[in-house]
Amino acid sequence: PHPLPSAIRVRPLTCTETRRGDRRVVHSLGDGTVHVSAARHDVTFGFSAVFDAGASQDAVFEGSGMRQLVELAIDGFSCTVFAFGQTGSGKTYTLMGPLTQSESRPAAPGLLGLMQRSFACLLEQSRSCGSDLALSASYLEIYNEQVRDLLSPGPPCALPLRWSKTCGFYVENQLSVDFDSLEAIADLLLQVLDPPLAGSQRRRTSAHALNRHSSRSHALLTIHIRSRAGGQSITPPILVPQPSACPSKQGTLCFVDLAGSERVKETGSTGELSVEANNINRSLLALGHCISLLAKPRGKRMHIPYRDSKLTRLLARSLGGSGITLMVACISPSSRCLSETLSTLHYASRARRVTTRP
Ligand code: ADP
Ligand code: MG
Repeated sequence: PHPLPSAIRVRPLTCTETRRGDRRVVHSLGDGTVHVSAARHDVTFGFSAVFDAGASQDAVFEGSGMRQLVELAIDGFSCTVFAFGQTGSGKTYTLMGPLTQSESRPAAPGLLGLMQRSFACLLEQSRSCGSDLALSASYLEIYNEQVRDLLSPGPPCALPLRWSKTCGFYVENQLSVDFDSLEAIADLLLQVLDPPLAGSQRRRTSAHALNRHSSRSHALLTIHIRSRAGGQSITPPILVPQPSACPSKQGTLCFVDLAGSERVKETGSTGELSVEANNINRSLLALGHCISLLAKPRGKRMHIPYRDSKLTRLLARSLGGSGITLMVACISPSSRCLSETLSTLHYASRARRVTTRP
């Protein structure tokens, strides 16, 4: 069994935080530990990797185990990386880099996130050493306990989440789009972040509006990787079963941008907002619950309640022992975020004790 790798990323203080005089209460001691020191708190947590405010996107990709995760996915494993933390802690930045405000100014290559780096790594692998990889992507969102397909054109509609003996949980009628270049997959992401309106006008979603939405939904981008051993690049005119001597492998690489963890609270609000908050509470708590049950020694484990939320159903395969999961917990160093930061660190420490048997 492998312990679930979990990495912590501490973002820098933002200009606003610096201007209003927030103190830095989180420090990395450089040996895989994070130290939180504030008036009534003085705690140290240990993780597989800790990235401090100065860490580059590349350092996070190389140091978190993300590259190995991509390689395992090519080898046919179900791999998942999930970004967890409160809104504004750097989840989207870590996965995708800074979201630029204007199309004419794409993000600098050095700032690209784990997703783009993984795509580049996949395409590189697919071109080298004659391995022939067929890549496709699907993009789902869980909002208010409804699974929506972000790639399907038109207004979002809910898709049923089903279970079968052979596939486990799966989403019915989910679209998936083939891609074979970095431009194609980057375009796809842009389309989702910035859906074109009728006519050629693109809607400019402000980073702020995007964060407001992303803090209330979970987004799951899955890359399906089919590798045909032997580097066969010509499709036979007639579909013949693959000879068992060169089996094809099917791996997945899933990127999960979780809803803001600050949503897990007792909320006194009413109406639509409270339904929304309750659903987020339910799914993040269900995920935490599954993680803490999985963290128990094998003999003492009870039934794992994956069915408690759509999120845990969709993540069941990667959490439940047949897959490999990397958790990147994002935190702000600011004194104002202290309680959220502590709860994120506790959550991530629990996740660290989960073991899987791919
Ligand atoms: P989340 O997705 O967790 O809500 P974001 O990724 O949107 O948070 O980050 C919030 C803000 O902080 C954004 O303006 C983002 O560009 C900035 N930010 C986050 N992480 C970093 C980092 N490591 N370095 C520089 N800026 C960052
Ligand atoms: Mg975000």
